[in-house]
Amino acid sequence: MMKDHYRVIVIGGGIVGASVLYHLARRGWTDIALIERADLTAGSTWHAAAGFHSVNDDPNIAALQSYTIQLYGEIEAESGVNVGLRMPGGYSLATTPDRLEWLRSSAAIHQTIGIETRLASTEEIVSNCPIVDSRGLLGGLFDPHEGAVDPHGATHAFVTAARRRGADVILHNCVRALGRLPGGEWQLGTEQGAIVAEHVVNAAGLWARRVGRMAGVDLPLTPMQHHYLITDDLPELLGRIDEMPCVTDLEGFTYLQQERKGVLLGVYERNPRHWQVDGADWDFGRELLPEDIDRIAPELMIGLTRFPSLSSVGIRRWVNGAFTFTPDGNPLVGPVPRIRNFWAACGCMGGFSQGGAIGLVLANWLIDGDPGLDVYGMDVARYGAFASNDWYLRETTAQFYARRFVMAYRNEELPAGRPQRTTPAYDAQKALGARFGVVWGMETPQYYAVGESEFVDLPSPRRSPAERFVAAEVAATRTAAGLLDTSVYARYQVRGPGAARWLDWLIAAHLPALDRIRLAPMLNPMGRLMGDLTIARLETDCFWLVGSYHLQEWHLRWFRDHAPPSGVAIENISESWIGFSLSGPKSREILERLTRADISDAALPFLGCRTVDIGFSRAVVGRLSLTGELGYEITVRASEQRALWQALLNLGTDLGLKPIGLRAQDSLRLEKGYGVWSLEYTAAHTPAECGLDRYVAFEKGEFIGRAAALAVRDDEPARRLVLLAVEALDADATGHEPVYSGSRRVGHVTSGAYGHHVRQSLALAYVDRDIASAPTPLTVVVLGTPRPARILAEPPYDPRGLKLRAAV
Ligand SMILES: Cc1cc2nc3c(=O)[nH]c(=O)nc-3n(C[C@H](O)[C@H](O)[C@H](O)COP(=O)(O)OP(=O)(O)OC[C@H]3O[C@@H](n4cnc5c(N)ncnc54)[C@H](O)[C@@H]3O)c2cc1C
Repeated sequence: MMKDHYRVIVIGGGIVGASVLYHLARRGWTDIALIERADLTAGSTWHAAAGFHSVNDDPNIAALQSYTIQLYGEIEAESGVNVGLRMPGGYSLATTPDRLEWLRSSAAIHQTIGIETRLASTEEIVSNCPIVDSRGLLGGLFDPHEGAVDPHGATHAFVTAARRRGADVILHNCVRALGRLPGGEWQLGTEQGAIVAEHVVNAAGLWARRVGRMAGVDLPLTPMQHHYLITDDLPELLGRIDEMPCVTDLEGFTYLQQERKGVLLGVYERNPRHWQVDGADWDFGRELLPEDIDRIAPELMIGLTRFPSLSSVGIRRWVNGAFTFTPDGNPLVGPVPRIRNFWAACGCMGGFSQGGAIGLVLANWLIDGDPGLDVYGMDVARYGAFASNDWYLRETTAQFYARRFVMAYRNEELPAGRPQRTTPAYDAQKALGARFGVVWGMETPQYYAVGESEFVDLPSPRRSPAERFVAAEVAATRTAAGLLDTSVYARYQVRGPGAARWLDWLIAAHLPALDRIRLAPMLNPMGRLMGDLTIARLETDCFWLVGSYHLQEWHLRWFRDHAPPSGVAIENISESWIGFSLSGPKSREILERLTRADISDAALPFLGCRTVDIGFSRAVVGRLSLTGELGYEITVRASEQRALWQALLNLGTDLGLKPIGLRAQDSLRLEKGYGVWSLEYTAAHTPAECGLDRYVAFEKGEFIGRAAALAVRDDEPARRLVLLAVEALDADATGHEPVYSGSRRVGHVTSGAYGHHVRQSLALAYVDRDIASAPTPLTVVVLGTPRPARILAEPPYDPRGLKLRAAV
C-alpha cells in the first residue's frame, strides 16, 4: 500500500536504487519507499553483464568497490534471495612492456588501498584460461575479487531485505513531476497519485537526467550504447568444474567472463555511440538496441584473435544496451547543490562494483549529514554547470568510454571538451609557448615550451622531457621571479554585518585583522578537513576566501548548508576576479615598477593585503606565495587580466621574470613541503595528521568541528604527513605509492615531483606515527620498483622561511 507521505522516496528500482533503499532501512529508517516506473531492474540493470572488480584508480572508490563485493554474501544471507555470486578472480592482460610496467605499478598501489592483486605470468594465465592465445602476451595482473552476480537476484536481494526492515516498494508507478510545497517538502506527481516526501533520491539510471530536470538541475550524465555477446558452449570449458577467471584484454578493448559453458565477451569500442542523450523515453521498455556490429568490428576482431576459439562456436545472444556515463566515469552521489533535499545516486556505469557502496554512502550522508569517508571522487558536487553542456558532455563521455582500458599518465592532457573556458591572457600565454591543462573546464598553463613550438609531451610515467622547461621556470622563480596564472583559484566574497561572526564559526582559525591574510582550515563536525582556505580581510565586514578552483560547488554547498545570517552575502567571484601570483626575489622590484603605492615590507608585510593600483587596474594584492619565495597574489577584474599580464611581462622581463605553469609550482611547493587540497589535504584527514592543526584556534570559542578536534587534541594522530627525499631513477612518485620500512607497509605517497632547485626527487606521504617520530630508512615503490627514501626533518629549501618573509 502506497502512503501519501514518506520521509525518503527513492526513484528507481535498479541495482543502485535498491541498494540505497536497503542501506536506509539498515540504518533504521523505515518511513521510506522506492518508486519504480515498471518492474525492478527495468533500466540498465536487467541486461547488464553484472561483472565486478575492486580495482579503481581512485583508492577511495576502490575501497568502496571492495565494500560492494563483500556485501553480496551478506544480502543473500539476509534476504534469502540468491544473488548468483561467482568470484573466480580475473586477469588483466599486458601485451606491451609499458602495460606490464603499468600493471606492476598498479599492483604496488593496490597494496596502499588494501587490495591484494598480484602480477601473473603468461603461463599461469594460459593455464587457468585456456581460451587465451598467448601470442604477444607478456603477463598480467590477477585480481582475486573479480567476478559477476545475477543482476536480477542482486537487485531483488537488496529490495527484499529492505522490505523486511520496513521499507515500501511501489512498482508500475512513474514519477512524472517534482514540485515544492510551501513548507519545503517535495510533492511527487506519480501515475498512482501525489506523494509528499521530505527527501527525494534520484536513482533513475537511464532516466536520471530527466528526473534531475524535474527538480531543476541538469546532471552531467548521459546514456551510451554498449555491446556484449554470449557464445555457445566452448570445448575448453565443457569438462571444467571450476569457473574460468575473467579476462580483460586491456590493449584489445574487450573483457570476457564465463557464462555457463560459453563466454560473455564485452567490447569498449573506440568509436562509441550515445543513445538518447537527455535520458531514455518514459515508455522505453525492456528492449535491446539493434546491434551495430560494423561499428565495433575492429575491437571485436582483436577479441577473436586473443580468444580464437570463439570463432569456432556460435553466438547464442547479442546484447546492445545502454547505461549512463559521466565525464570521468565515476557516479554522481550526494546532496545536489542548490536543491535542498534532492539527492543524486546516478551516473553509475559500474553498478555491480559500486551499487552497494553508493547505497552506503548515500544513507550515511542523508542520515548523518556526512558520507562517513572521503567520497569526493563520486560526489555530485565535483562538477559545475560547465559539465552539463551538451557538447562538452558528449565529447568527454565519449572520450572516457573509448579510453576505458587505456593507460592514463600524469603528464597527459586529454583533448575532449576543450577549450571550454579560457582567461583573457590565454592567447598571449599560448603565443609564449604555454601548454595547457584543464582544471574544472578552465584552460590553465602547465608549462611554457619556450622556443620549441613543435614540442609535444608524449604520455609517459617517467620524468617527462617537458621537465627541462619546468626546470627553467623553477630557476627563474628562485633567482628572479615567476608569473603564475591564478585563474585556477576559487574566490568567494563574504560581505555584510555579521560576516565576521559567521566566518568565525565556519572557519577553525582566527580571522585575520583588517588588511591581513590567514591560512584557514575549515572542519566538519567530525573534526576532519572541509577546506584549506586562505582568508583575507579587505574591510571590516568584507572578506575574500580563496581555495581550489575545482571545489567551487563543493564549498558553496557547504557554505549554503551552514547558511550565514541574513545580511551576510556570499558571492562566488571566481570568474569575475582573476590574476597572477608573482613570486621570487625580484618580485617586489617588478611590482614597484607598476605602482606608486608603498609596497615595502612595512606597508605590505608577509600575509598582508591591500587594494592598490597596479598598472591600469585597481588590484587586490596579497603578500604570500606557494613557491616559498617573496611573492604577491595580484587579483584584478577579469577584463583587466590581459593588460596586467602584458604590463608585468613588459616591466619584469629584463629582471628575469618568466611565466611559469602549474608543474613548476608543484616542484617549488614540494621543495617547501607545502601540501595542497585533494592530494595532501582531503576530507579523510584531520588537521593534526597533516600539520594544519597549528592554524586551529581552539581557544577562540565555538566553531564547526571544534568539539571533535578538541577531543583528539592531545592524542598523537595515527599517521602524519611527512616530506620524503626519494632516491628516484627517471620517474618520480605521483601519488598512492606505498611506503615501506623493511617489509612493513607504513604509509603512502600523496604527491611527488622532482625538486629542480634542490636537485632531489621529493614526495609528501602519510606515514605511521612511530615512523614519523623516529625516522628510519624507507622505500617508496615507484613504478613498481622499490626506491630508497628518507624523511626530511625540514624542507630542503629555505627551511626557516626567510625568503618567504623577505623583509628587505
Ligand atoms: C550491456 C550492458 C552491460 C553492462 N555490464 C556491466 C557489468 O559487467 N558490470 C557493471 O557493474 N555494470 C554493467 N553495466 C552497467 C549497469 O547496468 C549499470 O551500472 C547499472 O545497472 C545502473 O543501475 P541504476 O540502478 O543506476 O540504473 P537503472 O538500472 O537504469 O535503473 C533505473 C530505474 O529507475 C526507474 N525509473 C527511471 N525513471 C523513473 C521515474 N520517473 N519513476 C519511477 N521509476 C523510474 C527505471 O525504470 C529503472 O528501473 C552494463 C550495462 C549494460 C547495458
